[in-house]
Amino acid sequence: MNRIAIFSFLIFLVSTNIVESKTKSKRIPPETRMNIVAEKYVKLILAIGQHDADYVDAYYGPKEWHDDAIKNKKPLTILKDIAFGIQSDLAKIKIPRKNEMLALRKTYLAKQLEAAYAKIEMLGGTTYTFDEEAKKLYDAEPPAFTEEYFKKILKSLDAALPKDSGTVSERYIRFRNQFIIPKEKLDAVFTAAITECRTRTKKFISLPKNESFVVEYVNNKAWSGYNWYKGNAHSLIQVNTDFPIFIDRAVDLAAHEGYPGHHVYNVLLETELLKKKKWIEFCVYPLFSPQSLIAEGSANYGIEVVLPHEERILFEKKVLFPLAGLDVKNVERYYEVQTLAGKLAYAGNEAARAYLNGTISKEKAIDWLSTYALFEPMRAEQRVRFIEKYRSYVINYNYGQDLVKQYVEKKSGKKPTEKKRWEVFHALLSSPRLPSGLK
Ligand SMILES: [Zn+2]
Repeated sequence: MNRIAIFSFLIFLVSTNIVESKTKSKRIPPETRMNIVAEKYVKLILAIGQHDADYVDAYYGPKEWHDDAIKNKKPLTILKDIAFGIQSDLAKIKIPRKNEMLALRKTYLAKQLEAAYAKIEMLGGTTYTFDEEAKKLYDAEPPAFTEEYFKKILKSLDAALPKDSGTVSERYIRFRNQFIIPKEKLDAVFTAAITECRTRTKKFISLPKNESFVVEYVNNKAWSGYNWYKGNAHSLIQVNTDFPIFIDRAVDLAAHEGYPGHHVYNVLLETELLKKKKWIEFCVYPLFSPQSLIAEGSANYGIEVVLPHEERILFEKKVLFPLAGLDVKNVERYYEVQTLAGKLAYAGNEAARAYLNGTISKEKAIDWLSTYALFEPMRAEQRVRFIEKYRSYVINYNYGQDLVKQYVEKKSGKKPTEKKRWEVFHALLSSPRLPSGLK
């Protein structure tokens, strides 16, 4: 064979290879191609986790992948290339029309990968503004509120509080201090709240028989409660006792961390998506990602799903207030004030936005949190530490709650029954839906 012949033969070989691999990739079903991308995604998340200990919030996939991530720690520049490569592989997969779950899976992976890419850049020293970061990491555009907005809410709170001396914030703190759970009664109150939330949730969502949790009381944390999901339907719920715990926190934490909040959400993702569908991406949960908005938003909204206002008042009166040794005649008044105070939830975002964008100092942020988010000075300092550590993550609680609430209420119809609301909520917790998909 002469040189030209050899050359054309080589070209022939290469081109048949291309044709062959193209037909091959066409023949591979999209589900299988997604599985390949998903495995790469899991390994990428574990690799990023080697650069930030808070990043991987839960992992219950193959142990050797985790070991490998530790043993072969990759530099950020390489991780960026890997993330980019996975994004391009994913973009090439065509999802057949009408396969809504697979389409959701693709969007989920695409958004999670965008967030992973942004996180790698942040670890490399890139800083974004509060709103840029919220968009890149959480797939969300949180609303902004003026000082006037919060002043108006303070006015209505002023009218609802006992008429004594001091600022609205000081008066609120004094009023609320009458509703602290005595330390020795903490466990009994929490256990009762968790049992109630669990029983109610299980009426509407069937959970695996072996689902379980343990509660631990801890100190020196930037958060007030945390759910560590361990896999195989088991959670460790930690409650921070650095500061006195108010009676409303019992149901709030029981629902948020447990039922139907984080514990249930993780159990459903593991059972429905990882085990039944074999979608491996659900063996890992990267904290700084759009999934967190759904997690925090559904955990907060879950409080009113599991115990709607009227029923909660009855339960507090009958069970929790007596268990805590508090006077039941104050239940309604306390929750009336708490509902008003809850309207100030976005005040924390404004402190975080201004502080992280560098437009206000740390002292000013503490001051703002004391005035508009009604924090005691010590708690305001703890909150600033939380903001420094978790940054724009703060939007996931309040904006996440609003997005999930709107979504569930819209999908439940005009006059939803309790059953319908749970149905929509359950479906959301068992699907790979992300923030921009809630609109
Ligand atoms: Zn949470």
